[in-house]
Amino acid sequence: MNVALTDVMPPWSLVTFAAIFGAMWGSFANVVIVRWPQGLSVVRPASHCFSCQAPIRFYDNLPILSFLILQGRCRHCRTRFSPRYAIVECAMALLSVGVLQITVLADPPTILFGLTEYVVWFTFVGALLTAGMIDLETYLLPDAITLPGIAIGVLANGLVLKTGWQEPIIGAIGGYALLSLVFVHGYRLLTGHQGMGEGDPKLVAMIGAFLGVKGGLFALCFGALQGLIIGSLLIVIRRRTGTEPEPPIDDDELDDEGNELQPDPRFRKAKVPFGPFLALGAIEYLFFGDALITLYLRGAAQLFGL
Ligand SMILES: [Zn+2]
Repeated sequence: MNVALTDVMPPWSLVTFAAIFGAMWGSFANVVIVRWPQGLSVVRPASHCFSCQAPIRFYDNLPILSFLILQGRCRHCRTRFSPRYAIVECAMALLSVGVLQITVLADPPTILFGLTEYVVWFTFVGALLTAGMIDLETYLLPDAITLPGIAIGVLANGLVLKTGWQEPIIGAIGGYALLSLVFVHGYRLLTGHQGMGEGDPKLVAMIGAFLGVKGGLFALCFGALQGLIIGSLLIVIRRRTGTEPEPPIDDDELDDEGNELQPDPRFRKAKVPFGPFLALGAIEYLFFGDALITLYLRGAAQLFGL
């Protein structure tokens, strides 16, 4: 008979642990999101206030809690911190619990296999959230996340999850080829303008490496659809309020510390961030993909009277 982790530990304790674990990695993701595009170390210096430079002590650096206690401000100079810190921590906590639900709590064959699945999918959603947030703020997708992500996805499917090599390899190569041929090079050839960013095909390749061909296509279609809807809404809102769309990073743009922001050359420029929507589509597939596809097929069958 199978021994499940829920036999040893009550599910609520596993959920609590997963939430705390996720929030802590969310805290680290914040450091990466802020520092990496500026070419700064993610380890040194320790967390400090961007305004008064005061170091942030560990008791003021607790994920989510510290943000609530200090009402999102620096303890010393009361400068307001971006709500993004708490949002990313909450998102990672939620994603961690979601991944727990589809792995450890979904009756895996062994405890070890369930935990391994958890690590694989938590790594995946963590990489997606981090890359998506960086793209949202800087219009750049870091190769340093997507390229290792492709390798990890293929190896995880082939060696660890034993789902085979074919799906992740075809998903990665097919996704990359489709996007770079049609949307990057094809678009440029036809219009003479830069279409999609050159980082996007690599992100799709990473998604294909983890989720296979079906998952990659799903993320692409659902990501594009949601990007289109939200992008159109933003245009309408901006027209009504008369605000200009935010431009991508210019070379003379300043960061929180007043230094010139120099995009790292390893990052690729794009005009509209598609990465966050691709990441969203991939996360939706991981948790709801099968249910959504079934719903879609049933709807289509009804529509066409099949
Ligand atoms: Zn301060």
